[in-house]
Amino acid sequence: MTPSSAPHLTILGAGPCGLYAAHTALELGAQVSVWEKQSQPGGLAAGHQRGGNWYDLGVHMLHAFDEEIFATCARVIGEERIEVPLKSHIKWHGKLYHYPLRGRDILAGIPPFTLIRCLTGLLLAEIESRWGRRTPGPDAESALCELYGPALYEFFFEEFTHRYWGIHPRDLSAEFVRRKMPRLSAVDVFKNLLEKLRLTAPRDSSEGALRFETLHYSTTGAEALPRKLAQSVHERGAEIHLDSTIETIHHKGSRITGINDMPASPHENSAFLSTIPLTRFIQALKPAAPDHVLKAAEQLRFKPMTVYALLVNKPRCMDALYTYYRDRIFHRVGEPKNAGLLVTPGDHTTLIVETTCEIGDAKWKGDALAEILGDLEAEGLCNAGDVVEHHLLHASHAYPVFAEGFEAHLQIVLDYLSQFENLRSTGRQGAFTYPNMHSAMRMGADAATSLLSSGCA
Ligand SMILES: Cc1cc2nc3c(=O)[nH]c(=O)nc-3n(C[C@H](O)[C@H](O)[C@H](O)COP(=O)(O)OP(=O)(O)OC[C@H]3O[C@@H](n4cnc5c(N)ncnc54)[C@H](O)[C@@H]3O)c2cc1C
Repeated sequence: MTPSSAPHLTILGAGPCGLYAAHTALELGAQVSVWEKQSQPGGLAAGHQRGGNWYDLGVHMLHAFDEEIFATCARVIGEERIEVPLKSHIKWHGKLYHYPLRGRDILAGIPPFTLIRCLTGLLLAEIESRWGRRTPGPDAESALCELYGPALYEFFFEEFTHRYWGIHPRDLSAEFVRRKMPRLSAVDVFKNLLEKLRLTAPRDSSEGALRFETLHYSTTGAEALPRKLAQSVHERGAEIHLDSTIETIHHKGSRITGINDMPASPHENSAFLSTIPLTRFIQALKPAAPDHVLKAAEQLRFKPMTVYALLVNKPRCMDALYTYYRDRIFHRVGEPKNAGLLVTPGDHTTLIVETTCEIGDAKWKGDALAEILGDLEAEGLCNAGDVVEHHLLHASHAYPVFAEGFEAHLQIVLDYLSQFENLRSTGRQGAFTYPNMHSAMRMGADAATSLLSSGCA
């Protein structure tokens, strides 16, 4: 048990970031309380049980890139952890390619004349980048053209990016490309061309490493990680308050002092680590944040997502763990049974169909089901009659939108929050960024360490 004189950390949000922050704070000897608005921990990585089966909010698998985080997660998940070789596809011009894209897919998938234009553009982009001639453009369109050349941008990225975000790439910030998109080098493509022409031996390259990456999952899907992490921190003394929405955040001088109906935290001098959406945090401040900060926060938007979670009367629908689609109503379909999810009945499977949307639109309300079933049928995944159950899962804050100019608004908000010495706002929602689970957990660990070592708690 932690002694009552130990520093205290109040954590807002029990997603991967908040839960791992709790784990780290306990290791550092702190007392911890976690406040979560949902009835279960996990945030975007939570699992949802419907009619006897578990559904992820978009198939979620753990990467092992951060050794320390992975070692903790592997220990905590224990025997429920399953190792899964990465196998993901993208449907492009009627064919399935590996995703992330490999150079050879570009070679195989583009008509010859377009291929020459794309390769020339890619090569020029690479030369300019290596000789430092490239000046970063302010928007995603110019950043993508600078990275890949205009022909490949038009052929591959323009329409898909527009459909996915509901915003044309010229109205998205270049920062979106830097943070969200894997870099495809012209050198890779040309090396693949030489390999294809049998002028060089096949490589054991990073492409190969990516192809053979192992992911981590469970027979109940994504939910095992947050469930076991929450259980572990609870058993070590952390209080976890579920169904507890943070509506009000009290502050005085340079300190956050309490939440909701507790203007002063019962734990004198608690530090606060927030993983809830940055915009929500600003709106909840009492006294209210200054007008210019509230206005800046209003400009920061998140893209919502609706998952159509389907139980299908077929043993299997696809070959991969998930496939990206460029011209369908959904942008990705996952089949978690291929990663070891147990499905009931055993001769059925489940599909996780992801669509970006706006709150209250047809996709959000479930009115897009007929179109989704039509597109699944057109892709040969399943027929409408095979779908025996469908459930809607929503995320109002799935993706931060890096609209052009968002950096200035974000900076105003962050500058304002930096005055609070006992606060860190972090994680996917709290830092308005795009981490995977392991990076969000690293952010939580770093923020907890920084707060507890600063002596402010
Ligand atoms: C479709 C999709 C697929 C993904 N797939 C993968 C994957 O395969 N592998 C991977 O590593 N990562 C994946 N990710 C990323 C992963 O979901 C995030 O990195 C991770 O969930 C971020 O954790 P977090 O704790 O920072 O944020 P969140 O998970 O969003 O947690 C924030 C928490 O705060 C709570 N909260 C919000 N407002 C309040 C309030 N007012 N009061 C109290 N609580 C509140 C929320 O309910 C939530 O529990 C995926 C993301 C998406 C959208």
